[in-house]
Amino acid sequence: MNVTDGPLEWLALARGTLDRVALNRRDEAWLDAAWANPETRVLLVQDGRSLVTYEPDPALVFVPPDQAPDGERWLLGAGEDGTAYFGAPGPLPAIEGAHPAGLRRVGALLGDQDSGLLTHVVALEHWHRTNRFCPRCGAETRVASAGHVRQCPEDGSQHFPRVDPAVIMLVTDEADRILLARGPQWPADRRSILAGFVEPGESLEQAVAREVNEEVGLPVRDVRYLGSQPWPLPQSLMLGFTAKTDGGVPLRPDPEEILDAAWYTRDELTAAIDKGEIVAPGPLSIAAQLIMRWYGDQLPKMPMF
Ligand SMILES: [Zn+2]
Repeated sequence: MNVTDGPLEWLALARGTLDRVALNRRDEAWLDAAWANPETRVLLVQDGRSLVTYEPDPALVFVPPDQAPDGERWLLGAGEDGTAYFGAPGPLPAIEGAHPAGLRRVGALLGDQDSGLLTHVVALEHWHRTNRFCPRCGAETRVASAGHVRQCPEDGSQHFPRVDPAVIMLVTDEADRILLARGPQWPADRRSILAGFVEPGESLEQAVAREVNEEVGLPVRDVRYLGSQPWPLPQSLMLGFTAKTDGGVPLRPDPEEILDAAWYTRDELTAAIDKGEIVAPGPLSIAAQLIMRWYGDQLPKMPMF
């Protein structure tokens, strides 16, 4: 993990390496040949989890196409050696040494290629499961484009996987303290930086300023984009920012969204984690990476995931 003054360089769920071979998604001959090839690897997914082995290192477990359930299959990509990777929904088979795991558990532990594959397949599974019917006419839609489109047989409309952009921002004050807040449903020892969904007709920078103002009543300036990662839990794209605020404006937490909010120096954050008042976030979230970039190092007592 790199901690620098520049953009975020390591984001757990933004590490995919496979070529998505999007041009092959409508090439039925290529798709059929790939599915007939026993070297093709199929990643089964069920309720956001796939099979993982932990020895010697965390890695996804694939099955050949003839062991995948009949039904939907989604082209995820192809490796440099030409190996095709598909995802498919279905029950996870019992395989010795393999255990079901989701992104929260293994997203930061898997290697780059596997992390990208699991992120992709989990996102597709949720979208297919929750978008079976045409939003125009209500007819049941069909999978097209190797799993990346759903098409309505009645009116021909095409529907693409939905991704909800959300901004997340590390706000610093004139003393280079960061603002951490607790959401209403969170455990007493959990704090994070502010975040919120982008609204229709709004730029990312406007969303950052609006959310900070709504949640704690602060004006911000110097909104700066630092990186993004997919967050298919269930269907977001997290866009990370820093923003600055000038001193002298008291925090006014919105009681609907924020239980409490406070400024922390590096020493105060270290002490709060050491005393158990705040649990350090795991490396998976973009929030943790933004905090570490400011902190200048790994946080104390950081969990593995
Ligand atoms: Zn329709």
